[in-house]
Amino acid sequence: MNIENIKQPFIKIFPGDFSGNNMQRNTPKVLFSTVDPVGFDQPKLIAFNEKLAEEIGLGRFEENDLNFLVGTKLPENIKTYSTAYAGHQFGNWAGQLGDGRAIIAGEIENDKGERNEIQWKGAGATPYSRHADGRAVLRSSVREYLMSEAMFHLGVPTTRALSLAFTGEDVVRDMMYDGNPQLEKGAVVIRTAESFLRFGHFELMSAQQEYKTLQELVDYTIENYFKDIQSEGTQKYKDFFESVARRTADMIVEWYRVGFVHGVMNTDNMSILGLTIDYGPYSMMDEYDLNFTPNTTDLPGRRYAFGKQGQISQWNLWQLANALHPLIKDEKFLEQILNDYGSYFWENHDRMLCKKFGFDQLLTSDEKFFTNWQSLMQELHLDYTLFFAELEKYDDQKDLRLQFENVSYSFLNDEKMVKLEEFITTYKSRLEKNIISREQSLELMHQSNPKFILRNYLLYQCIEEINEGKTEMLERLIHALENPYHTIYPEFSAKRPTGYDDISGCSMLSCSS
Ligand code: AMP
Ligand code: MG
Repeated sequence: MNIENIKQPFIKIFPGDFSGNNMQRNTPKVLFSTVDPVGFDQPKLIAFNEKLAEEIGLGRFEENDLNFLVGTKLPENIKTYSTAYAGHQFGNWAGQLGDGRAIIAGEIENDKGERNEIQWKGAGATPYSRHADGRAVLRSSVREYLMSEAMFHLGVPTTRALSLAFTGEDVVRDMMYDGNPQLEKGAVVIRTAESFLRFGHFELMSAQQEYKTLQELVDYTIENYFKDIQSEGTQKYKDFFESVARRTADMIVEWYRVGFVHGVMNTDNMSILGLTIDYGPYSMMDEYDLNFTPNTTDLPGRRYAFGKQGQISQWNLWQLANALHPLIKDEKFLEQILNDYGSYFWENHDRMLCKKFGFDQLLTSDEKFFTNWQSLMQELHLDYTLFFAELEKYDDQKDLRLQFENVSYSFLNDEKMVKLEEFITTYKSRLEKNIISREQSLELMHQSNPKFILRNYLLYQCIEEINEGKTEMLERLIHALENPYHTIYPEFSAKRPTGYDDISGCSMLSCSS
């Protein structure tokens, strides 16, 4: 790999702490601290994303690149650092947080002039590790590696994953925070993104009243990642906030399309570019349930449940608006954008749902249709993904019960079948309002409805296998997630089997990683 081409423009521009000291502390007024990865002597490669490496300009992987993948024996040109950010966690201001176990190697540029940041996750403690060890375990690393790539291939804006390797070191974790610490295998993931900047970076500078740095950070973000913004003065900052709001809404609509629940939508986990970032206790939704949250820490209030993600993204944008206020100085404008957010979001959400159903346009009557559909899904305990896959295949000639019984997590008794039949009748008459042909309508459905999603139980099985030294399932899952709109392995495109409903680390997840 062209490791020698990795550069660190960020640390040349912004105020930082160059002491290299990784002791945990507050680092006021700076956006990063230089810090070295600890280095691991016995790395073992689990997965490497060759296509991504080529795409971003890193080139081919060679045997001696393995050290780099875990942050060991780095060449002189790589000046590594971790960034400081703040955030609102579960609705409360949490002050300084920062890259607790992410260390940035720098940026690489490809021959098209596109730049990508490269960072290790799990390569050791940083000043922002907050009493934790800066390590990552195999379990959470596999989950991040596979899911970020799955989201990319589904067409959802996301950070990406370049490599996954064992460190050769064991790490102690109390997975469910219940007083049962165990040794788990340590691992490091390299992830990439145009930028890993979060709402929290802007919140940190604003909270410390470092308005000059705040302004420089916004200017830098616009210049590098919001190239369509051409305005000047305060208008530039207004356009920026409006763009961030749109990108955020567009991302969340995509989460709803594929059935993704992030699980920890704190403002420090919100990318300023509108990318899905920080894959922790996330889950793809099996059974359709607006109240579903995979994160045990979130159970008391279900703040981050599937159905709340739209509303929460708006709340998070309020916090960003507060942080950017010193630059924009126009409450009315900010309020307007935030108030319009709901209608922008819901309209796009409903247009997205239309495509899933194969409708060519959104009608006023659709609101009622969607509400009825939601109750049908919840009452019949239907699988979100499989429901749309079956709807795409629906034809009058088939027995409706036979077709849908494998989509439900409950028995479809006669009463439920009547509801389903009623729904299908309404659906058919709604389809008749289409201007496009049936083929075009089916094409819309085909593009909007994944046939393969990375379900938690599949991840769970895959992690168990890797722990036993086998990688066959990992390879098959990678093949499947690269082709999510096709059924490559029928056994992966089925309902969650019974027995996986209550397993820790499978259906119930924690932030422990
Ligand atoms: P969140 O992503 O909102 O759950 O916040 C988690 C915070 O804890 C971030 O600042 C992380 O970098 C940090 N963190 C999580 N796990 C570790 C770990 N094993 N070592 C150090 N910091 C961690
Ligand atoms: Mg985080």
